[in-house]
Amino acid sequence: SAADVADIGVTGMAVMGSNLARNLARNGFKVAIHNRSVSKTEKVIDSYGGEGQFFPSESTEDFVKSLQKPRVAIIMVKAGKPTDAVIDELSQYMEQGDIIVDAGNALFTDTRRREAALREKGLHFVGTGVSGGEEGALNGPSIMPGGTKESYDRLGPMFEKISAHVDGVPCCTHVGADGAGHFVKMVHNGIEYADMQVISEAYDLMGRALGMGAGEIGEVFAEWNKGDLESFLIEVTATVLAHKDERTGKPFVDIVVDRAAQKGTGAWTVQTALDLGVPVTGIAEATFARSVSGDVEEREAAQRTLKAEVEPTEVGDKASFIDDLQKALYASKLVAYSQGFEEIAKGAETYGWDITLGDMAKIWRGGCIIRAKFLNRITEAYERDASLKLLLADPYFTEEIAKCVPAWRRVVAYAATNGYPAPVFASSLAYYDGIRAERLPANLIQAQRDFFGAHTYQRVDGEGTFHVEWSEDR
Ligand code: NAP
Repeated sequence: SAADVADIGVTGMAVMGSNLARNLARNGFKVAIHNRSVSKTEKVIDSYGGEGQFFPSESTEDFVKSLQKPRVAIIMVKAGKPTDAVIDELSQYMEQGDIIVDAGNALFTDTRRREAALREKGLHFVGTGVSGGEEGALNGPSIMPGGTKESYDRLGPMFEKISAHVDGVPCCTHVGADGAGHFVKMVHNGIEYADMQVISEAYDLMGRALGMGAGEIGEVFAEWNKGDLESFLIEVTATVLAHKDERTGKPFVDIVVDRAAQKGTGAWTVQTALDLGVPVTGIAEATFARSVSGDVEEREAAQRTLKAEVEPTEVGDKASFIDDLQKALYASKLVAYSQGFEEIAKGAETYGWDITLGDMAKIWRGGCIIRAKFLNRITEAYERDASLKLLLADPYFTEEIAKCVPAWRRVVAYAATNGYPAPVFASSLAYYDGIRAERLPANLIQAQRDFFGAHTYQRVDGEGTFHVEWSEDR
């Protein structure tokens, strides 16, 4: 490349954008940088200018001019209107064949709209999921680019170089056309919600049923991190549970308010699943569990009034209950991943994306929050059968979950009997029993609908659509 132009540019020098730019520079790329307010750009040069070759610009026009053709400009600004504003400005100066990348957390439908608009102008628009937070952006994130194959030829090698690597394989691949990258990133975040919730349910039951303190529970998670559950989130849980509050000396988690926020991608995953008709019960219950926790006044009202009668039962042997919890967690997690992958498959089918499902598990093995060894098993399942309808129906997973079922039932029954909430454990088990049931009560639903809405019904003993003249029964 020429000496006086940059290989790639980043606009938006807040924490994510500056870290991504530094990651690129540290990997030997010449990086043009820009920010609406110049001070942030200057700060990057002052603090990190020595890390590589930066090309700072004050104006958008100079920023675009400093890029090697076909140009690649990454936008890392606040999602929503700011992203549209920056796209408008950049596209004024960009030329046929140039590439605009949105690496922020956009809703995939926005990405589809923006891609279509820029395609009209002869520009490539690449909505890209970037996972791993600030730390990932700097040291190697999981990167999920959408957009055209042609644009990936240009930017793929750079992204693959700066992404996390596992066993020498980059955690970045071309996901699919237009909004596919942001769609997959969205589902990734939804799965993260479910993963965090099942961990929390296991923690909660250890406390309630066995009276274990945070420190002791942390040791259990550290132990679990050596087995099937080995993952970043389990490791984080062990670390967090071992942490002592500086001010009081108490376990840190005990002084943290029990209200979780849910905004953005978890809710998007569920809303999109409803539109696509995919039962993502694990992610939905995890999202709603956060909503319940945040429903402050409703919780107060319920605490005053809902005095449920509970006849406590014996938890039994401590070690075997902990073992049961591990299996309930693992089984519920498998359900959530299976549902998440079904959502990706349905999204791909609906929007015409050619997504290799096994590769999605592969690029989540490093850099991102749900990174885990077990993702290899998902990749293998899709390698065995690319048209696999349900991840749980893969022989490996069928067997894994079967090993957990008795323990899982014991945990759910124990929690229900004793009045302990375990929404994802319980609903995942209901899903497992529902999806494998030979017959579901939807027959009665259809009969009711035929009665009051003349919706018609289908018969078990032949083809066709039928309707009963209900007037005689009324
Ligand atoms: P942010 O706080 O979301 O956004 C701040 C940046 O946006 C600043 O550079 C700001 O420029 C710019 N900006 C805001 N409105 C603008 C406008 N109208 N025109 C031009 N620039 C505008 O920054 P962030 O936390 O680094 O996140 C960037 C993106 O990454 C977001 O989409 C976020 O959702 C996504 N993301 C964040 C994380 C994370 O862990 N933080 C993880 C994954 C993805 P000024 O300095 O001029 O105000």
